Amino acid sequence: MMIEYEHEYTPMLATAFGFLSRKGKKVNGSAINQAKHDFIIASGGCCLHCGTSLTRNNSNTEHIHDRALGGHNKAGNKIIICIDCNLARNKTMQEYLGQPSYWRGFPGNWDRVKKYLLWNAVTADKGHRAGRVFPEVHAIFEDILRSEGRKISPPKHWFGRDDNLTLISSQNNKRGFFVRFFDKIFGYHNVEQQSTISQADYMVGIETTEIDTQTVRPRKIVEVDETFRRHILDALDKVDGEVNLATFSSFFKLYLTSQGFNFKGLKQFARSYGVPKSRTNIQILQDYFPNEIDWRWDGQYTVFIQRKHEVFEVPHREEE
Ligand SMILES: [Zn+2]
Repeated sequence: MMIEYEHEYTPMLATAFGFLSRKGKKVNGSAINQAKHDFIIASGGCCLHCGTSLTRNNSNTEHIHDRALGGHNKAGNKIIICIDCNLARNKTMQEYLGQPSYWRGFPGNWDRVKKYLLWNAVTADKGHRAGRVFPEVHAIFEDILRSEGRKISPPKHWFGRDDNLTLISSQNNKRGFFVRFFDKIFGYHNVEQQSTISQADYMVGIETTEIDTQTVRPRKIVEVDETFRRHILDALDKVDGEVNLATFSSFFKLYLTSQGFNFKGLKQFARSYGVPKSRTNIQILQDYFPNEIDWRWDGQYTVFIQRKHEVFEVPHREEE
């Protein structure tokens, strides 16, 4: 795994190597973008390490590739995390690599520098727990949080590097998704009832309250302009993996604002295209994106959606 990450992050490592060989001569970059910071906070962004909800006061910009190791001051190298975790990352660096300037220890310290930088990049891009691939660095960081009495509960979604506002998902387990989806369909009511209703209607039924086969009938699907679908898919394409529909709804509202629209949310946006007021968010997605969006129920009230990437199929069990 370490080798794969070294390959994936070669440009970062090359920059650090060059920086340390130049005895720490820095390269200039762009300023912090406050609008993006605000956007992340407004969208309910969480610290990718500890899970704290980010606010203007408790969060700031972290350089994924540390400036002290030659990292650029550019959006693609920045992430918004909580201030306490930002400090803990700096403490981790000093505990693992000693005091700066790090070019003084170069090239003897290169192996440690490399592991520290890769841990930084991997946690930012793939989630806190992915940092376990670099156990020494990971243990130092977690020990710092524990010694401060802080919880380590990484969120399921966080905003990635500051240049594209992409929501990253740590749970992209297709197998789990299929199993739970089928459990919902076949585990909720008896087989006889299922045979009388379609999957889509069944899901609509449990979205409201108890299913009543007498009242389930096909919904009228109003024809809409293609821009309606394009905007929703554009926004969903910015999400990597599964996302809670409620989270996506607030994200979509901000997406619309960024596109110059002024709507209160997905439903109002849909109404402007003639979709009936009574349609719920999930019904809108079911009606207009049957081939593009998958959904999964988690409990009775929470639904996760994700962009469909492959043909739906039943998972096969492994022989034990
Ligand atoms: Zn944190």
